[in-house]
Amino acid sequence: MPYLDHNATTPVRPEVIEAMLPYFSEKSGNPASVHGAGRAARDGIDRSRRTLGEILGVHNSQIIFTSGGTESNNLALFGLAAKSGFKGRLVISGIEHPSVDSVATALEKHGMRITRVKPDSHGVIDAGKIMAAVDAETVAVSVMQANNETGVIQPVEEIAHACQNRRCVFHSDAVQVFGKKSLDFYRDCGGLLSLSAHKLGGPKGVGALVLDKSLALEPLLFGGGQERGRRSGTENLTGIVGFGVAAKLAVDGLALEQSRLSALRDSLADQVKQAIPQTVVFGENANKLANTLAMGWAGLDGETLVMNLDLAGYSVSSGSACSSGRTEPSRILKAMGVDTALGRSMIRVSLGLDSDALMVQQFAAQLIRTVRQLTSMSRIMG
Ligand code: PLP
Repeated sequence: MPYLDHNATTPVRPEVIEAMLPYFSEKSGNPASVHGAGRAARDGIDRSRRTLGEILGVHNSQIIFTSGGTESNNLALFGLAAKSGFKGRLVISGIEHPSVDSVATALEKHGMRITRVKPDSHGVIDAGKIMAAVDAETVAVSVMQANNETGVIQPVEEIAHACQNRRCVFHSDAVQVFGKKSLDFYRDCGGLLSLSAHKLGGPKGVGALVLDKSLALEPLLFGGGQERGRRSGTENLTGIVGFGVAAKLAVDGLALEQSRLSALRDSLADQVKQAIPQTVVFGENANKLANTLAMGWAGLDGETLVMNLDLAGYSVSSGSACSSGRTEPSRILKAMGVDTALGRSMIRVSLGLDSDALMVQQFAAQLIRTVRQLTSMSRIMG
């Protein structure tokens, strides 16, 4: 089954599985235990922490392992808000993942003020608009490194720099970027950075929140005081070991792999646009992740496209959500000002390690057939 949905999740790389295996058996002590089995487990966690620290340019003590991107985003924003007594303002972009956007909604119920800044029609957030929304009561700014639906990369370096000048905390969701693009904690964030393992060939259910040494957070989880008291609970040992190995593999092969994927992605877009000139690529003129292509054909239904492609053996996703029997464009496309009939038709193709030229060519042919069939059906149905 050709899998073209790597922004949803990736298969775990064989080297990662191999590295994890001993931690299910002979090295499966509790990392908090003082005996040999505990020390072996702790070594595994320490190694992953060092690996992530080296990749991101931070000290080991700045990394909190979590259960994934969702928890990291919740811990960052709730943790900061709780420290400020749920007072003040949070400035976020209008294209954040639900694990940031709905935290903001929850914080609003606790009394915080939220400002959402819309992207332009290419899906790019303007750093100037973000900073214009920052006022004296602003507790933090949160803008993702790149969007999961469109792949559009955001001007995080500029925002990080501006936040530093205004002495404002910058949180950034790097879940889609880690392992796909070079990432440096102090260049691209400087405040709090959320990561997840399963988007880069690691296991599901593990991630990290990286934070500047000057920042203090109120924990979400209280208990045994693991992760320096910032995230209690026995660590996901195998997951953390797998995360470190997957991150190192992804980052080591990054430049070559990303140029390979962007060539495949561009050839897919070219083939489809040549056969179907009405094809719209979302965020076409913006700087995008090499593996991501979001397309639409006004009048079609994204969910129906995804189901038809699935029947033909291909896994892709749609950005739309079905509410009360009618497909609605995604929140992201709405924020970009995309017309409803076009927005409803979006599908997202996200390539990965197992994508190659033959797969992309065959997929392009299938996609063209499917779009043509559905277009002629929708004409017949009026
Ligand atoms: N942030 C972004 C941008 C994502 O794409 C995702 C996953 O789809 C998440 C956060 C959530 O990460 P996790 O699945 O590890 O909770």
